[in-house]
Amino acid sequence: MATMDKVLKAHAERNKELEASASKNPFAKGVAWIEGELVELSKARIPLLDQGFMHSDLTYDVPSVWDGRFFRLDDHLDRLEASCKKLRLRMPLPRDEVKKILCNMVAKSGIKDAFVELIVTRGLKGVRGAQKGDTFNNSLYMFIQPYVWVMEPEDQPVGGKAIVARTVRRVPPGAIDPTVKNLQWGDLVRGLQEAEDRDATYPFLTDGDSNLTEGSGFNVVLVKDGVLYTPERGVLLGISRKSVIDVANAEGLEVRREYVPIQMCYDADEIFMCTTAGGIMPITTLDGKPVKDGKVGPITKKIWDGYWAMHYDDKYSFEVDYSKA
Ligand SMILES: *Cc1c(COP(=O)(O)O)cnc(C)c1O
Repeated sequence: MATMDKVLKAHAERNKELEASASKNPFAKGVAWIEGELVELSKARIPLLDQGFMHSDLTYDVPSVWDGRFFRLDDHLDRLEASCKKLRLRMPLPRDEVKKILCNMVAKSGIKDAFVELIVTRGLKGVRGAQKGDTFNNSLYMFIQPYVWVMEPEDQPVGGKAIVARTVRRVPPGAIDPTVKNLQWGDLVRGLQEAEDRDATYPFLTDGDSNLTEGSGFNVVLVKDGVLYTPERGVLLGISRKSVIDVANAEGLEVRREYVPIQMCYDADEIFMCTTAGGIMPITTLDGKPVKDGKVGPITKKIWDGYWAMHYDDKYSFEVDYSKA
């Protein structure tokens, strides 16, 4: 895996530089934007009575910066705005302003590979007891920190261990709309605990009707006979999933977005997960048994390479100007 090696080595180098800068720059470990002020991430606080905290009345999104370039930022902001609309929330700031603040935060931190989070909450006033025509001052919180790996880089060449959760199902779309990125993680946390109990790391949740949905912050893609399969219903429509589809299309691979019966996981040639926090993450053990021969498959590798190459494509990313900090 020459490309994987190269990408991860370069990332480790950038991380070393970042760590060396931390003694001089308090924002190198992360910076938050709270009510218009920039604060060190570890010191960031939110008001206790924020409805985001009281009732998880919020939506959020997680874009990323890779090697000093924002990746698919407008796709993330499009999704965030669409989610706000579904929840009857309004972004408190115009998009251009949000982008400007985010770029400034990245520049000030000096972080080259960053995990970026924006959270929009109802604000201090809740919807319970509200009168018709009441206005809400929605709140926006933003922070950036060094890139987060749902699967550690050193595990990616061999792949991780997943389970199909038996003790919990994914919350149904009629209860909580999974296309609105949310922090109601009750089902996903139970899945993570079951995974740990069963000597694995990653839970795949079903829809309660023997179809695959997704896991704790990632989408799942199966490969069978050269075709990619990923669930379309009951999942967040991930931007990484979108990137996987873009790479697959460019490689002439067919992608089917449809119901994926859970049995297909056991019959798959390859399995991988995808998320902004970690990219393409191969799964080589499912329910304690090897996926096919238990090695990372050729299509997963192709998607992995294409996914990281996209981060340098002007069509999908733009450079942050660090000199403007
Ligand atoms: C964030 C998230 C994903 C992955 O979405 P990306 O846009 O690819 O980062 C998948 N599932 C859930 C439940 C998520 O919260």
